[in-house]
Amino acid sequence: MTIGKPRNTVIGLPSYKPGKSAGQAEVEHGAVDAIKLASNESPLVPLASVQAAIVAASTGVNRYPDHGAVALRERLAHKLGLNANQIGVGAGSSGLLQQVLLCYVDAGDEVVYPWRSFEAYPILVQMVGGVSVTTPLNDDLSVDFVALTAAVTPATKVVFLATPNNPTGISESTADIAAFVQSIPDDVIVLVDEAYREFNDPAAGDPVVDLLPRFRNVVVTRTMSKAHGLAGLRVGYAVGDPEIITTLDKTLMMFSVNLVAQAAALAVLGAQDEVDKRVADIVAERDRVSVALSELGVRTTKTDANFVYLPLGEDTERIGLALEIKGVVTRAFAGDGIRVTIGTAAENDRFLATFEEVR
Ligand code: PMP
Repeated sequence: MTIGKPRNTVIGLPSYKPGKSAGQAEVEHGAVDAIKLASNESPLVPLASVQAAIVAASTGVNRYPDHGAVALRERLAHKLGLNANQIGVGAGSSGLLQQVLLCYVDAGDEVVYPWRSFEAYPILVQMVGGVSVTTPLNDDLSVDFVALTAAVTPATKVVFLATPNNPTGISESTADIAAFVQSIPDDVIVLVDEAYREFNDPAAGDPVVDLLPRFRNVVVTRTMSKAHGLAGLRVGYAVGDPEIITTLDKTLMMFSVNLVAQAAALAVLGAQDEVDKRVADIVAERDRVSVALSELGVRTTKTDANFVYLPLGEDTERIGLALEIKGVVTRAFAGDGIRVTIGTAAENDRFLATFEEVR
């Protein structure tokens, strides 16, 4: 018996499955010293200055935070050379994806995105009663922009485009994205999801610089969860036209960027050099792991994110499980491939050795 009357969209809604924790894998498989390479997090504890800001902020949590996170918006705007009214904030960039859908998608409206991509997209779309329209990737797993353009119809309200894409790691150039945006009506919101921006090759261009001045219907989302190492605190931001940001703010859950999160985000933005160094280390490790895999004769994508992707097809589930039993928790997308987050050098070595063993 159902208690109450859940909305139809919610009854059929699948739950988001987060990456399995190392502890869970140990309990399930009796693995020893399991490592989690499943959620594209930073493997490192927060910077000392960020930890200090978190501790200092803790004495203030009897008060509500600044709902609008004004100091944080101003700081981000300054960093990007923009005005604060071009910056939105949310509970992670996931929060902002949800806000975009709440603002622009009514029941039955279509949201177009290439697939495979971020697992949360179909769930978030269904949550608002929207209809997901997906387009297949090219053979090399890059975005098929011809198919994407063809999928946009008068029913389309929003397009999601993750670059670098999760889980393929492949980035799309701002030139290609611009050509796509130009090919569709300008009343469709194009959300460029740059969760992994900091790991990307600068040659791909900067959507904030290359696209926003040209296209008022483009909004870019970014996050403090990945390169900045604040996944546990939930801070994301959106960059776009002030009109879009004002609209998004209407659906910002009250106080959802919490007080500790705001303090930590400001602190980490003040430690740019240390963040850059950490990003450079991850990128170097990513390239090392990619080379090592290709030396093993394993196909990978050309990743520009903080993870590698192995399109293992039918072998995906078997290898994903075998890795997990040996304490290396990755993300397996049944029938498609395995995504492996870049960890510390020791963790990456353990992944490579274990992969060689089980494949
Ligand atoms: N977009 C993409 C493409 C992602 O992979 C993720 C995280 N897995 C997010 C958005 C959301 O991250 P967060 O909510 O932590 O900012």
